[in-house]
Amino acid sequence: MPAETMTKTRWVYAFGGGRADGDASMKNLLGGKGANLAEMSSLGLPVPPGFTITTEACVHYYGNEKRYPAELEGEVATALKIVEQQTGKTFGDPANPLLVSVRSGARASMPGMMDTVLNLGLNDQTVEGLAKLAGDRRFAFDSYRRFIQMYSNVVLDLDHHMFEEILDEHKERLDVTVDTALSADDWEAVVRDYKKAVEGELGQAFPQDPQAQLWGAVSAVFASWMNDRAKFYRRMHDIPESWGTAVNVQSMVFGNMGETSATGVAFTRNPSTGENRLYGEFLINAQGEDVVAGIRTPQALTKIAREEMGEKNPSMEEALPDVFVQFKAVVEKLETHYRDMQDIEFTVEKGRLYMLQTRNGKRTAKAALKVAVDLASEGLITREEAVMRVEPSSLDQLLHPTIDPASNREVIATGLPASPGAATGKIVFTAADAELQGGSVGAVILVREETSPEDIRGMDAARGIVTARGGMTSHAAVVARGMGRPCVSGAGEIHIDAKTGEMRARGRTFKAGDIITIDGSTGEVLTGDVKMIEPELSGDFATLMEWADGVRRLKVRANAETAVDATTARQFGAEGIGLCRTEHMFFDPTRIQAVREMILADDEAGRRTALAKILPMQRDDFVELFGIMEGLPVTIRLLDPPLHEFLPHTEEDIASVAAASGLDPEKLKRRVEDLHEVNPMLGLRGCRLGVSFPEIYEMQVRAIIEAACEVATAGRPAPIPEIMHPLVAKGEEMKFLRILTDRVARQVIAEKGREIEYLVGTMVELPRACMRAGDLAENAEFFSFGTNDLTQTTFGISRDDSGRFLNAYIDKGIFEKDPFVSLDQEGVGDLIRVAAERGRAVRPDVKLGICGEHGGDPASIAFCESVGLDYVSCSAYRVPIARLAAAQAAIGEREKDR
Ligand code: PEP
Ligand code: MG
Repeated sequence: MPAETMTKTRWVYAFGGGRADGDASMKNLLGGKGANLAEMSSLGLPVPPGFTITTEACVHYYGNEKRYPAELEGEVATALKIVEQQTGKTFGDPANPLLVSVRSGARASMPGMMDTVLNLGLNDQTVEGLAKLAGDRRFAFDSYRRFIQMYSNVVLDLDHHMFEEILDEHKERLDVTVDTALSADDWEAVVRDYKKAVEGELGQAFPQDPQAQLWGAVSAVFASWMNDRAKFYRRMHDIPESWGTAVNVQSMVFGNMGETSATGVAFTRNPSTGENRLYGEFLINAQGEDVVAGIRTPQALTKIAREEMGEKNPSMEEALPDVFVQFKAVVEKLETHYRDMQDIEFTVEKGRLYMLQTRNGKRTAKAALKVAVDLASEGLITREEAVMRVEPSSLDQLLHPTIDPASNREVIATGLPASPGAATGKIVFTAADAELQGGSVGAVILVREETSPEDIRGMDAARGIVTARGGMTSHAAVVARGMGRPCVSGAGEIHIDAKTGEMRARGRTFKAGDIITIDGSTGEVLTGDVKMIEPELSGDFATLMEWADGVRRLKVRANAETAVDATTARQFGAEGIGLCRTEHMFFDPTRIQAVREMILADDEAGRRTALAKILPMQRDDFVELFGIMEGLPVTIRLLDPPLHEFLPHTEEDIASVAAASGLDPEKLKRRVEDLHEVNPMLGLRGCRLGVSFPEIYEMQVRAIIEAACEVATAGRPAPIPEIMHPLVAKGEEMKFLRILTDRVARQVIAEKGREIEYLVGTMVELPRACMRAGDLAENAEFFSFGTNDLTQTTFGISRDDSGRFLNAYIDKGIFEKDPFVSLDQEGVGDLIRVAAERGRAVRPDVKLGICGEHGGDPASIAFCESVGLDYVSCSAYRVPIARLAAAQAAIGEREKDR
């Protein structure tokens, strides 16, 4: 690079005193917290001065065998000098010590990734200086012991229980129960013991040099970027590892300097409901962690909130009226400035307000909808911005059933309504069991004493979470809300006996595997299965969906074959059925017999006899579906059975099929053996069945067209069936199927004397089909990308067995995400792009859609928008998610063009 174009990388950005080196647009470099501290400083808000070490420094650190950039030390020293000038204090000065906090801060907020270190810079000398400055020796030693505990835990990796035990011993010795009863001398004694314990554990003294403390904390922040919790959180929220975290070093202000000092957290609107009212809590004479730790009960911010809660302790509005007025003005300014609901941390030191953090507040899906719709209605943002503000997958929280109020509730315990929604499942007592038995395997409720970050995978696999201990801000509550899982926390009536694998509540005993239901909106735990009601999609939800529909281009259909699913899909706004899997209509016990007869018949005549039994049932199914869909397109996929799923396996099943079909059981057994396939997923599946036994597809086409005629004759909107052939690979296959379909359809139309419009198309599920899409398009009027099979056949990874090894691939970073969940845009996506181009080259108006699981995944939907598909199709419950994701994708594409 020529010297004149080389710019020196800057690793440290200062803020405070009404100015800042950075601003809110620099989140990538300064992390969310650092960028907002800079922005608040520039806005002239009271921010304690400090500086941010950039995310690039973290990236450099990991790219260079954990070595800091050479210039970093110098830049930190310079920034520290500025903070010293602004505060009039000096880092490490025994007479007038500057103390700092050290916090992590990535681009995206990652709660709980690393705890904060407060009061850094304290040692045996500076603690005396602090005592003199504050005129309060007790405060100084209390601060010092807090620092030793936090630093030891976060930086030196020592267990905090060790410190709690020491403190308990002191309290016992002094015969006191509360921390406030300890004197300055008592805290000094605690500090002595803390230091001794650290030395005992580590074989070296607690670091006294403030510089060493500072660099220890910086490297702990960088290290926290790679801890297991952070890695899992990143994976869950699609945060790339390459981003790194910033480090914020900020001069301390103290909320624990007496009755005119305080600390608190606030949301500019209610983060649970979205209600436009200041919400939050604060504590007088306390430090930050006291609010979250739950040792003291926090007080309300406003008088009205206090009154509503029936609290006696004064609100901030009443206790610190002047500061409150200033605070309210700051909070309003922040919301208007950021044009979004803010989550704010503040401290009041001896009557002076300081802002420690602001960020766009995390919120429930319900609140996200309300805030977005309200902000647009207030004119603060546009409707399109409102559409962009709601995370599509978060809607899941609102789309799940709640307990029917009319149903019988047999309550076995009550706790806190920690995360809304209801769920039923089998009890499991460990996160490991939840992982094994939950997820796609089954419905489980994880019941724990309390949860910890190690449980996060199990929590994700559970339908709901119950804890016996912990509050609304406990780990379980916070994490469950983030995941959209219903959660009841602090259900103290539940006693878990880990040894016997049982839980007791209200005199009853439950074992692992017993069914319970939880209501995360009321905090109740109920026995058994309870009737649920479907969510209502009105109010803000409907408004936002209407705005989303106004901007999206992609149509959204549902995968549905039952009347219930089709009805739900329509309620959720589906614009047709994109995939009706006809084999799913055959699993019904009253039908499976006939299907087995059909499969096992050893000649065409036998098959036709069985098919004749199935025809009327199929026709009725389609009449019902067409009726529900009222003229909207319905794509019916002809039989695509993995054969083994239909074959009788037990002697008993074989005997009953034999009895029904009049076949000899022994002969039947041999036929089952004949049909056995080594690899059924790549065997007699899809259209191979229709090519081998055309009478099966003939029956289905007949059922479809007869049903369409019946519905049209009844005067209801005429259906336009889209007849879809699965797993086609060759042009010749498609041609054969096209001729078959048209022949039967024409025949039925002639018989019924009623013209029915229909389309014939194919699922594109094989790489060859993509490469030769032009051949298929000669006879296919539409393609529907079956990305489940297309992913399976592109990677050569069995969709049924991938669970056993995919995690290893994801852990090693080979796959960023499970390609069966989120489309592999590079490989499978490229095949789709090629197929779309080649198909359109032959048939410009070929209709293109997607109906694999990816059709409900927001990132995959954005891809579908980018290649110009006509529609996506997904399960009924995901339809609203897809509508919103499609709108966001359309807006995203437009922005790209700008
Ligand atoms: C697919 O393969 O993507 C698809 C939708 O079909 P199925 O899942 O029924 O194989
Ligand atoms: Mg398929």
